[in-house]
Amino acid sequence: LEIHIVPMTMSGDEDTGLLLVLQDVSAIRRLERMRSEFVANVSHELKTPVAAVKGFAETLLSGALNDPETAKSFLTIIQDESDRLNRLIGDILELSKIESRRSPLQFSPIDLPAFLERMTELLSPEAAKKDIELDVVSEEGLFLEADEDRLGQIVMNLMQNGINYTPDGGKVKVRAEIVNVEDSEEEIVRITVSDTGIGIPRKDIPRIFERFYRVDKARSRSSGGTGLGLSIVKHLTELHHGTIRVESTVGVGSKFILELPLLQP
Ligand code: ADP
Repeated sequence: LEIHIVPMTMSGDEDTGLLLVLQDVSAIRRLERMRSEFVANVSHELKTPVAAVKGFAETLLSGALNDPETAKSFLTIIQDESDRLNRLIGDILELSKIESRRSPLQFSPIDLPAFLERMTELLSPEAAKKDIELDVVSEEGLFLEADEDRLGQIVMNLMQNGINYTPDGGKVKVRAEIVNVEDSEEEIVRITVSDTGIGIPRKDIPRIFERFYRVDKARSRSSGGTGLGLSIVKHLTELHHGTIRVESTVGVGSKFILELPLLQP
């Protein structure tokens, strides 16, 4: 609580008074703290790959270049870390674009079964590498109003996580259906993405939509994760006036449940 005391003089009045202003600044402070935490996180996340690139380049220049085998493995690391840096910068820019509302959504009717089919085609090479089965079932003739590119980002992120956090030979299922909102006639679209993966510990579930939050940093890094995917998903879902939640059991799998209105208000 901030207290401001302002002396006042009424016009044409000899009497002076004091104006007492009590302002609840906890929301403002919380926002400031979140912003500075974000900046600190961004710097840390960017520094790690830059340090790796620099370190391996230096080692190459100071002699490792003479051994072709070593040189090749160091250059591969430099390439991977540069890719990672690129993904990070892309995700950070995307998030800031979404948060500042600089690019408004472009809503149009989307044929969901065809749309999900395209997503599956895009991801099938990645799934095949891990021998993961992608199984997509969508109610026929299901149309919804959405920003097609953004809906693509949402669904791709969820499916990609399903693939990343599922051991070889597992399964990622996508289901799309129309359901009734509880106790009402209103219909919404429910898209669920479930996997037979490693699952998420109960204590981490409330935090996984936070920026840069990862259950297991090492695993996320090795799968190319930036820790920003789900926060982008959550933001984009909210811009579609929808909700997202997750149910998960460690060692059994996770299920992300996305609910969106059929028509945008
Ligand atoms: P990342 O780039 O690390 O995948 P996300 O924001 O997409 O970042 O996800 C945040 C964290 O939530 C991940 O690091 C991972 O620990 C956990 N997670 C997300 N999706 C799944 C899933 N399908 N199964 C298990 N854990 C998951």
